[in-house]
Amino acid sequence: GARRGFDGAEALELEGWRHVYSGKVRDLYEPADAEPGRSETLLVVASDRISAYDHVLAPPIPDKGAILTQLTLWWFERLAEGCNGAAASPFEHHVVSTDVPEAVAGRAMVVKRLDMFPVECIARGYLTGSGLAEYRESGAVTGLPLPSGLVDGSRLDPAIFTPSAKAEVGEHDENITFEQMAERVGDEAAARLRHLTLDLYTRAEAIAREAGIILADTKVEFGVDPTTGQIVLGDEVLTPDSSRFWDADDVEPGRAPASFDKQFVRDWLTSEASGWDRASGGEPPALPADVVAKTRARYVEAYEKLTGRTFTP
Ligand code: ATP
Ligand code: MG
Repeated sequence: GARRGFDGAEALELEGWRHVYSGKVRDLYEPADAEPGRSETLLVVASDRISAYDHVLAPPIPDKGAILTQLTLWWFERLAEGCNGAAASPFEHHVVSTDVPEAVAGRAMVVKRLDMFPVECIARGYLTGSGLAEYRESGAVTGLPLPSGLVDGSRLDPAIFTPSAKAEVGEHDENITFEQMAERVGDEAAARLRHLTLDLYTRAEAIAREAGIILADTKVEFGVDPTTGQIVLGDEVLTPDSSRFWDADDVEPGRAPASFDKQFVRDWLTSEASGWDRASGGEPPALPADVVAKTRARYVEAYEKLTGRTFTP
């Protein structure tokens, strides 16, 4: 299909791999010896690019790609735990190996190529962001009515499933109802994806809470393994880019905490100092060095708090 995203002009040349796609953050490659579009595997390289307000910003955040990749790998392992004894983990994931070209070591993984569902699966355990905006307009989020009187940062217990349609590049992903999702992926897959997403959120929320982090919401993407027909977890999972992490000490109803990672970037971009007029649609100015450094520190902090490991570049 049509390629969304960047032209990949800045994607590295990697021996043995052919560049096929670049999103806002990741560069995808397929084995150079495979027929284009038909390989069994892909190489997913997480860049250090950061986006905010639908713009990719400059300069990149050092080590961000490695942090996203290491955190994703850690979560894939954690999600598979606790499923022993029973059948296989419900969270079969797409990672095949981390044996990747030296130039992208630590920030890339070889994955099974999946037929991705054209929806983003979002679970929300707290009301904020686009969910809150929709609730204020209609009292519901993606068609799910919620009790009245909820405020920014209100807990949603049980968590709710609020799918969105993957938008073309430069456009916002659009919240859709469960019924609209079912029209896109079929009733059976829609029900399965909702179940998996809420189950994943519940497990991850508990793990994060133990580490002092509130997982307010998260977005995951699933695909079908064309060789087995199984629904498999793809993309990245439970990173600061795909989720809202809040400091557990900072949660106060009526005022949702600042986002863990992009707080400094957003604060600076919207400040007088940046001189950027968001409404103009123009490119944002380059981030100052201290904003880059503070943002990097936040990504490292999220990784270290969650995993209990020390991040070594
Ligand atoms: P955006 O720029 O809005 O983030 P994006 O989400 O498409 O666009 P990235 O996240 O940077 O871009 O790139 C990752 C892409 O790879 C996504 O389109 C995602 O759906 C796709 N993807 C992830 N895992 C797999 C997989 N196992 N098989 C096929 N495609 C995958
Ligand atoms: Mg993405």
